[in-house]
Amino acid sequence: MENNVSAATAMLGLDGFVLLAVSDYAGELEQAIETIAVEDFCRGCGVQARLHNRRPTWVRDLPAGGRPVTLVWVKRVWRCMEPACPVSTWSESLTAIRPRASLTERARAEACRRVGEDGHSVAQVASGFGVAWATVMAAVVEYCTPRVDDPERLAGVKVLGVDETAFLAANAKHHTQFVTGMVDVTGCRLLDVVQGRSGTVLSQWIDAQPQPWREHVRVAALDPFRGYATALRTSLPHATRVLDAFHVTRLGFAAVDDVRRRVQQQSTGHRGRRDDPLFKIRRLLRRGHENLTDTAWDRLSAGLQGGDVDSQIQLTWIAAQDLRLLYRASGRDQGEQRLYRWMVHCADSDIPELHRLARTIEAWRPELLAYFDTNGVSNGPTEAMNLIIKKIKRTGHGFRNFDNYRLRLLLHCGVDWHTQQPTRIRGRLPRLAA
Ligand SMILES: [Zn+2]
Repeated sequence: MENNVSAATAMLGLDGFVLLAVSDYAGELEQAIETIAVEDFCRGCGVQARLHNRRPTWVRDLPAGGRPVTLVWVKRVWRCMEPACPVSTWSESLTAIRPRASLTERARAEACRRVGEDGHSVAQVASGFGVAWATVMAAVVEYCTPRVDDPERLAGVKVLGVDETAFLAANAKHHTQFVTGMVDVTGCRLLDVVQGRSGTVLSQWIDAQPQPWREHVRVAALDPFRGYATALRTSLPHATRVLDAFHVTRLGFAAVDDVRRRVQQQSTGHRGRRDDPLFKIRRLLRRGHENLTDTAWDRLSAGLQGGDVDSQIQLTWIAAQDLRLLYRASGRDQGEQRLYRWMVHCADSDIPELHRLARTIEAWRPELLAYFDTNGVSNGPTEAMNLIIKKIKRTGHGFRNFDNYRLRLLLHCGVDWHTQQPTRIRGRLPRLAA
């Protein structure tokens, strides 16, 4: 019997508790437990207490064997026998299960991990545990806020990436609301997000960091937005600013799109329709030339022959491809040469969109060429982070509350969870081998 109890209690794995009985209840497990305490002393007068009553309390625990688990903790109620003592009765309390809690502490911790590390929605996790949304959200806020507020989380950033992302889509009451995200580009982690898209919000965030942290940042990667550039120049004056290659490439393809739409409109008198040759190749036009199969090339040239009446699209497309290839240059010198030839190509054309693109690129020349001085730093990780941000936003069905949104993002992309990996069985060193 002694053996039985310890085996069952080992299965329970809850310090200070023993398992009394297990029953199946409609596919769920109900486990009756009690504490190992056999005596207690009054907190008022120190006299040994007498067992007064037993009172059951129900809490949800981690699932066992794939089944939801409810613990029925048969609590002891103690009574002080000292007539002069103001304390009369009290019930047991242990840190593993808080008073009036509907989840055990370990279940609360796991709920937080699922929301944070796995990126599940609070509603999903709450229904998985069979508790209320507010129960899980309270646990997330309590367990996770210290992790997010830990100053160590931001330590050691050498390359800072800055990017914007939409937080709330526009509706009848407000415009699209943007947030600015700060990323540790080398460490691939989200440092923080702040409301708004402006140099001011970025400056405020950087200026709030300790001086040694700021001095440690050597490079700042940014998208072509003047506000960010100005903020970085004043708040991180010693850091090299690099324009992000991804965004530059995107500017080129945006110009191709603009020209295609204009040519479309001028030659057909209407916006793109399904059977228009140019409309059919609108996606192909955005691809890198090396990613085009033979069939894709055929479709592309057929589309251009059908709709690109004065070769404007073709010229812009070449400019967009060349802009990408700028980054393949062997070094700064070659990069500068290619940039010069590219500028000439744009200037020689009669395409207003290309002239505008060239003006933009010219305005960002130092930041663009800095790419070659910084070993090709790119905001790639920042962009990858943006995809995760979108995923989190979907699981949360769009956040209305910025603080919740920030907490969820940082938990998923900005915190190391150090989750313990189970030891491998069927390894080379079986534990049971004699
Ligand atoms: Zn007492």
